[in-house]
Amino acid sequence: MSQEVFQITVLGARGSIPVSGEDTALFGGATSCYMVRAGDETVFLDAGSGLWSAPVDFPRPPVILLSHLHLDHMVGLGMYGRMMQPGKRTEIYLPVQSDGIAVQTLERLYSPPFWPKPLTELGGEVAVYAQQFPLELCDVAIDGTEGSHPGGCMILRLRRHGKTVVYATDFCHTQQSEEALLSFAAGADLLLYDGQFTPAEFAARPLAGHSTAEKAVELMERGNIRRVLLIHHGPGSADAVLAAREAALGRENVRYARQGQVISI
Ligand SMILES: [Zn+2]
Ligand SMILES: [Zn+2]
Repeated sequence: MSQEVFQITVLGARGSIPVSGEDTALFGGATSCYMVRAGDETVFLDAGSGLWSAPVDFPRPPVILLSHLHLDHMVGLGMYGRMMQPGKRTEIYLPVQSDGIAVQTLERLYSPPFWPKPLTELGGEVAVYAQQFPLELCDVAIDGTEGSHPGGCMILRLRRHGKTVVYATDFCHTQQSEEALLSFAAGADLLLYDGQFTPAEFAARPLAGHSTAEKAVELMERGNIRRVLLIHHGPGSADAVLAAREAALGRENVRYARQGQVISI
């Protein structure tokens, strides 16, 4: 039996705003947060409201990588229990966006009047860094490249023991961005891909910053990618809608992410 290299837990896969209710119970209502365990290392991909339900104890201090600074991807930071516990270290890596002031941007949001205290004063040991790639965490190699989204969004790639996971949230496909993604994600074992829009929604809003499940299938085939997890579900997409879209795709290896789901690579 092969040994697990990555274990990915979907803590939140909803896009734009958290939702709740019976008709979103299956795919979940918490916003973007994926916990990746890799040996003793833990990497969180984004810190949406799903971070609230994350465990707090790990063999080594976890690293939180933010793809970009839209609120749905960082709204969970202020309530993550680990960051309130004395002596527990958490590292947050922010993308450096066009203004070059990522760290100050986070401090601006997490301070009065928007939040009672800065993240570094919640009680735990919180360190905030600007992202610089490549980043090595023990035997996990992390890289990032700019995607395509209003205001920018990083595509993130984790590699360990020959396995590759790529996180492409809030991604808008254009001829140029597709080629960039393909060269970055080719051969990946798992691609988490923004499947928020239907083809009709994409046609109506091609610059809104999101992509489609159909494009994911195309990229998977062109890039020789083994498996796709569709993420960033539209806040108005009920379980029945997502389940019907998934069935229509008819692909065993292309599924919409379900909150709570655990994937082993
Ligand atoms: Zn988003
Ligand atoms: Zn966004």
